[in-house]
Amino acid sequence: PSRDQIHYFGAGPAPLPTPVLEEASKVLLNYNDSGVGITEISHRSADANAILAATQQALRQLLDIPESDGPDGYQILFLQGGGSGEFSAVVLNMVSAWVGGKLKEVGGDEAKLAEVVKNQLKLDYFVTGSWSLKASQEAARLVGGEHVNIVTDSRKHRDGKFGVIPVQSTWTATADNASTALTYYCDNETVDGVEFQSTPTGHNLVADMSSNFLSRPVEVSKHAAIFGGAQKNVGTTGITIAIISNRILPPHAELAKPELLRKLGLPVGPVVLDWPTIAKNNSLYNTLPIFDVWIAGKVMERLLQIHPTSSGPKIAGQQAESDKKSQLLYSTLDSNSNVYHVVPDKSVRSRMNICFRVKGGDDAAEKAFLKGAEERGLLGLKGHRSVGGIRISNYNAVPVAAAEKLAKYLQDYAKQA
Ligand code: PLP
Repeated sequence: PSRDQIHYFGAGPAPLPTPVLEEASKVLLNYNDSGVGITEISHRSADANAILAATQQALRQLLDIPESDGPDGYQILFLQGGGSGEFSAVVLNMVSAWVGGKLKEVGGDEAKLAEVVKNQLKLDYFVTGSWSLKASQEAARLVGGEHVNIVTDSRKHRDGKFGVIPVQSTWTATADNASTALTYYCDNETVDGVEFQSTPTGHNLVADMSSNFLSRPVEVSKHAAIFGGAQKNVGTTGITIAIISNRILPPHAELAKPELLRKLGLPVGPVVLDWPTIAKNNSLYNTLPIFDVWIAGKVMERLLQIHPTSSGPKIAGQQAESDKKSQLLYSTLDSNSNVYHVVPDKSVRSRMNICFRVKGGDDAAEKAFLKGAEERGLLGLKGHRSVGGIRISNYNAVPVAAAEKLAKYLQDYAKQA
């Protein structure tokens, strides 16, 4: 089939707006009438720098990201290594900033510092789905499990399976903020269909927004760091976007030197994951895949153009569209509850990844459902292999018309099931 005959609901890589891809095919051959394609130009050229600046600016506008050089400002970085690379980067950078701060507090006394690290260092993790679980496991691999504190493991509140975010009164955050190098959460759990409905509280807050990036306003100022792989809501696979608070970067933060970290038995990471280095070089420390940055920039430009709002966050228009699509799909599932069962609890349903079972998870019924969908050009609906079932990924590039067509199929299938 041709592109316009199908609707694609894959979980990532995700669909991209067709006009962006059409323009991309042109710039791959000849960028800006230079006779050279965009993947062939130097990442240090004026063209590349302009692409980088425009993309950063669009993102600042969409999410109202504070721009100052002072402690309240944020840097926008483009990294490689995917969301998974940031699972490591988060630990390496936040621990380095925490240890640097402690060194100052103990007046440079390294013996004292070693005691402080041993007795105090804690990395807090909300484990609300398979991605935050993986991130917490990476933290334990890097710094040792004794330094990792699980604020909540939602499986313990729901028969060993993800699908809920336990109430705050049950959370066991590290009591003393002075010990907390980071508090980590995954804003939207792609595999389990669980999304935070508001920003959780936590000291040195870090968020993985890979699968709901640019789908609603974000309280940026509550965070030390926010990151997301581009390949779901923003662009092509190959870049990870990070929004980093100046408070954890020089000159506002003193970082622990590699020699000191080694002495303390703490990890020293690869330089390409070192946020201060990448920030200092405006993401051009090494070769940046500028085509991926261009794609992300074009997607962001469209979000700004398609949803102009005179006041309030510029992303509010996209939020309204995401809400409309997800409400239609959930209400269709709910009104056919004899056939469909939404997996996560109603209170935490993701607007981006809608996970459900057909006839209680009956294998033949789910296969038939997927086959019928495919016949209508509705693709990418199979659930993640670890949990099975059906998953509708409702990312930004999924048009309202696609959600409507899928809702119609949900109705039709239920009628004859
Ligand atoms: N975080 C979330 C929420 C994800 O959905 C994914 C991938 O699907 C990742 C992290 C890992 O991203 P990557 O494959 O880019 O390493």
